[in-house]
Amino acid sequence: MNVKVLFIALSLLLMSCSGLERSEKAKIKSLNVQKEKITRSEDDIAYHLVTPKKRGAKAYFWGNKVASNLPKITKEYFRCKGSYKNPPIHLHKNSSNEKYLLDCNGFDEHSLPVKDEKEYIYPALIELLNYVQENSLKQVVITCGHRCPKHNLYTEINATRSKHLIGAEVDFYVLGLQAQIGNVVEIIKKYYENRHKEYGPLVNTTSNSFENKEIRLKVRSSKEQKDLDNQHPYPYITIELKYDRDTKKAVHYSWKISHQSVMKW
Ligand SMILES: [Zn+2]
Repeated sequence: MNVKVLFIALSLLLMSCSGLERSEKAKIKSLNVQKEKITRSEDDIAYHLVTPKKRGAKAYFWGNKVASNLPKITKEYFRCKGSYKNPPIHLHKNSSNEKYLLDCNGFDEHSLPVKDEKEYIYPALIELLNYVQENSLKQVVITCGHRCPKHNLYTEINATRSKHLIGAEVDFYVLGLQAQIGNVVEIIKKYYENRHKEYGPLVNTTSNSFENKEIRLKVRSSKEQKDLDNQHPYPYITIELKYDRDTKKAVHYSWKISHQSVMKW
């Protein structure tokens, strides 16, 4: 019993000592504190706020399959194909006026065009390409969907008003039908005959172009000069949207959408 009392007394003594020590330290600290007046004009900024990097969730392409077991096409497939791995393009050989074009870094640098606070590609293009996959049972390969202004300049310097910039144009070929591109055009004709008669049949405007109310379709031969997004040996199709199903208005290139609706992160 005595041992217990002694132990408690010792503990209390030690605690009070450390309490005394703490209060002594605080007293010394307060005596040594030096106060300085901070003078600052109203324009001074102590530090800059850095906007946190916003990253969209990477798509899991295998998450949404069509009947043929092909990945369903979504807006993710339309992301800008720019990359820092692409070498700078030397524009002027004249040593006094050296100029280089740099590529963007694609999805790691920026979003798709944003509409109503969401990334946006015209759904008509997505629906049409899924129809091509479902009816050919072959995979559509999108070589160029959206292009940001930087990548557009890098890949096709003269296409300054391309609808790729606003998510209203797509270049693609169909894996397994590279040599039968006419079959792909026939499937797209059927799409308008069977699913969207309201836009009229796709009719020839030139030997390699077709048009109706909604789209302009061009078949590009494998031999013609290609932009940097289409450096493959196959012929391919370009579809440009002319008409917007939602607004029921013509789709035009817009500087504002192409330059200001893309979020950088
Ligand atoms: Zn880009």
